[in-house]
Amino acid sequence: MHIEPTETQALVAKTARDYAERTLKPLAATLDREERFPLAQLRELADLGMMGVNVPAELGGAEAGAVAYSLAMTEIARGCASTAVTMAVTNMVAEVITRFGTEAQRERHVPKITSGDYVAGAFALSEPEAGSDPGSMRTTAEKVPGGYVLRGQKQWITSGAHAGVVVVWARTGGPGTKGLSAFLVEGGTPGMKAGKHEDKLGLRASNTVPITFDDCAVTEDALLGGEGGGFKIAMMALDGGRIGIASQALGIATAALDEAADYARNRKQFGKPIGDFQGVKWPLADSRTELDAARLLALRAAWLKQEGRPFSREAAMAKLFSSEAANRIVSRCLQIHGGYGYVRDFAIERHYRDVRVTTIYEGTSEIQRTVIARAELRG
Ligand SMILES: Cc1cc2nc3c(=O)[nH]c(=O)nc-3n(C[C@H](O)[C@H](O)[C@H](O)COP(=O)(O)OP(=O)(O)OC[C@H]3O[C@@H](n4cnc5c(N)ncnc54)[C@H](O)[C@@H]3O)c2cc1C
Repeated sequence: MHIEPTETQALVAKTARDYAERTLKPLAATLDREERFPLAQLRELADLGMMGVNVPAELGGAEAGAVAYSLAMTEIARGCASTAVTMAVTNMVAEVITRFGTEAQRERHVPKITSGDYVAGAFALSEPEAGSDPGSMRTTAEKVPGGYVLRGQKQWITSGAHAGVVVVWARTGGPGTKGLSAFLVEGGTPGMKAGKHEDKLGLRASNTVPITFDDCAVTEDALLGGEGGGFKIAMMALDGGRIGIASQALGIATAALDEAADYARNRKQFGKPIGDFQGVKWPLADSRTELDAARLLALRAAWLKQEGRPFSREAAMAKLFSSEAANRIVSRCLQIHGGYGYVRDFAIERHYRDVRVTTIYEGTSEIQRTVIARAELRG
């Protein structure tokens, strides 16, 4: 068993860490306060190969694998969680088109994602009435000569207002998950319109919007995979996406823990650094232990994916544990900051808001437990 990263993985992680440290960390508070979408930074990340870490080189990707992607995502999230989620969804879209697209679809979209020509990609599965249960989706795609017409509404779409391409799920057949298909809809297509930017608790520099499809016509070649194959595509994409969110949560918690340890070394009460008190040492110790356990789960899921082995259960375990642990860790780290943790002068306040959503999106913790238990009961 080898736990050390390969040379490539270490290089990708270092590239991401250097960029996060130099560019994202100093900017994150401003981006958050101004709710500013990190346009320039996303382009720079594309130049560094971060928009297709696990995408073949022939499509402009870094071809560095899923483990390198997990490491990079953690490093970027250490610097700015909003930028990280935008990068996570964009990588997911690049991977999904690479895997399920025709050669023409791949060539049309993936190089534009990996090069930064498209600022981002978006993944439009959720709807106002269909979150954990995509089978209840109402958006439809009516077959017409030469293509389809999409009608309906999507909700919570990350980068929906900026994406060069949106993967959209819609119903082409009967009820339930079997009637779902996926489509590649280019940004600016008439009839597809992004709504008002959500006023969120955290990740305030990421773009989250509803999207409406009002007689949105697409040609036949927009269909991704076959008709009725949409649910399978969504679930496979989310398996990989969950490694990304587990890694993002890890990054936020790592930043919080580093800052809490630093604070505990410097803040004095009762004539000594608060880090001398057992009541401060133990949460630091518990947090580091949980963080490492979460990291190992995420890396194992990424490694299985990279090896082409089943990883759905392991990705759900990684996402469940990592996001829940990250929430506990960031909360403890805020406590270590005392009252200073409650104000915007310290980054921990932002981490506390940013980390919250990691137990919710790309499947809530309850849905991850459902995936894990299903595998358990199958025997
Ligand atoms: C900032 C942000 C960004 C997002 N980005 C995207 C995106 O880019 N693309 C996209 O498609 N979606 C996106 N989402 C949507 C996200 O994936 C959903 O919010 C999530 O899947 C939960 O769906 P819901 O909000 O409708 O909650 P619901 O499904 O209504 O769930 C409400 C509660 O009920 C629980 N629950 C539901 N069903 C069960 C069950 N069977 N067993 C036990 N408990 C259950 C849930 O765990 C949760 O606690 C984003 C959301 C946010 C907040």
